[in-house]
Amino acid sequence: MIVEDASAASSLGPALQPVRPVLDSSAMNETGAPMERPHVAAIDAILGKPFRVLDDGLVRVVDYMGSDESIVQAARVSYGAGTKRIHEDRGLIRYLMRHRHTTPFEMCEIKLHVRVPMDCWRQWIRHRTASVNEYSTRYSVAIDSAQKTPPGGWRLQSKRNKQGSEEYLDPARGAVFSEKEAELHALSRKIYEERLAEGISREQARKDLPLSTYTEAYWKTNLYNLLHFLKLRMDPHAQEEIRAYADTIGREVVSRWCPITWEAFLDYSFHALELSATERNVVAALSASDPTTAVEIAKSAGMLNMVDGRLAKNREREELEAKLRQLNLAVPWGM
Ligand SMILES: Cc1cc2nc3c(=O)[nH]c(=O)nc-3n(C[C@H](O)[C@H](O)[C@H](O)COP(=O)(O)OP(=O)(O)OC[C@H]3O[C@@H](n4cnc5c(N)ncnc54)[C@H](O)[C@@H]3O)c2cc1C
Repeated sequence: MIVEDASAASSLGPALQPVRPVLDSSAMNETGAPMERPHVAAIDAILGKPFRVLDDGLVRVVDYMGSDESIVQAARVSYGAGTKRIHEDRGLIRYLMRHRHTTPFEMCEIKLHVRVPMDCWRQWIRHRTASVNEYSTRYSVAIDSAQKTPPGGWRLQSKRNKQGSEEYLDPARGAVFSEKEAELHALSRKIYEERLAEGISREQARKDLPLSTYTEAYWKTNLYNLLHFLKLRMDPHAQEEIRAYADTIGREVVSRWCPITWEAFLDYSFHALELSATERNVVAALSASDPTTAVEIAKSAGMLNMVDGRLAKNREREELEAKLRQLNLAVPWGM
């Protein structure tokens, strides 16, 4: 890690002592010899290979810069590649991830080519920390493909989560909606093409194409922001469609590109359990076999308000209950 003030180095722990307080090009490569570009054989092997997502979507790596080694190198401000043993590199990356020392992860960049239905893309594009070039349907004819839903693929509105879905519509009934979907896709495409044939501008002719129409883009981001995207979009709360893309990027791409970082991300971020101060105190009381104190803490935090003699709905309490179940701790209040 680069530190502006060498006297601050001691607070960074033994693995992070800076090699030099000031970075300059001669310090990085004193011999002036050409530096070799870092390569990751596992990602080179899949460059350009499309990973299929949904019925007609894809993700493929167009280019990348950096590797686990680059993260380590940035953290150590070192040019001694290969002088550290692999378990030390792993230890350093895990330290950086654990302590949210994030900038070394920004040294890695990746450019993906993605093909995504527009409703899913609308969620994706909210991640502002990427550089994007999208296929223009003002300039070119819209892609003639829309995401189709099989009869067994219609999800029902969740009763617990206003944003979510759960369970599936009976496929016999779903077949009716899949058929209507096909009719809608065909009609909207037909009208779109009629407008184009009439000379109507592409920018206006497209306005009634369904959100299920596929779009394509180049999406470039750094590893830090990519992991943030994956944390949010691999999460079960994210919509199934974007989750399919995030899972593919994580498990097929990042796991090959930066395997040590991927492992640390799963461990310290994606599968980690975060506790607020209140939650930690409740867990501590339960671990000390003191459910009465645990209930008092939850009560004073406003999680156990009563309405008509029953516990009022409280999202934070429900989230805490889910965490207690993960920790094999009994929920100490009536549910
Ligand atoms: C399950 C789920 C449900 C969602 N529901 C909704 C919804 O109902 N409505 C809705 O509008 N959105 C919704 N979103 C989108 C969400 O609010 C974010 O816009 C989206 O996830 C992008 O996250 P981000 O801003 O952290 O990412 P990025 O845009 O990539 O930003 C990464 C980080 O950079 C920093 N940053 C970037 N830009 C700024 C800025 N201008 N100012 C300050 N800090 C900045 C922030 O720390 C941010 O976390 C939902 C997202 C998820 C995952």
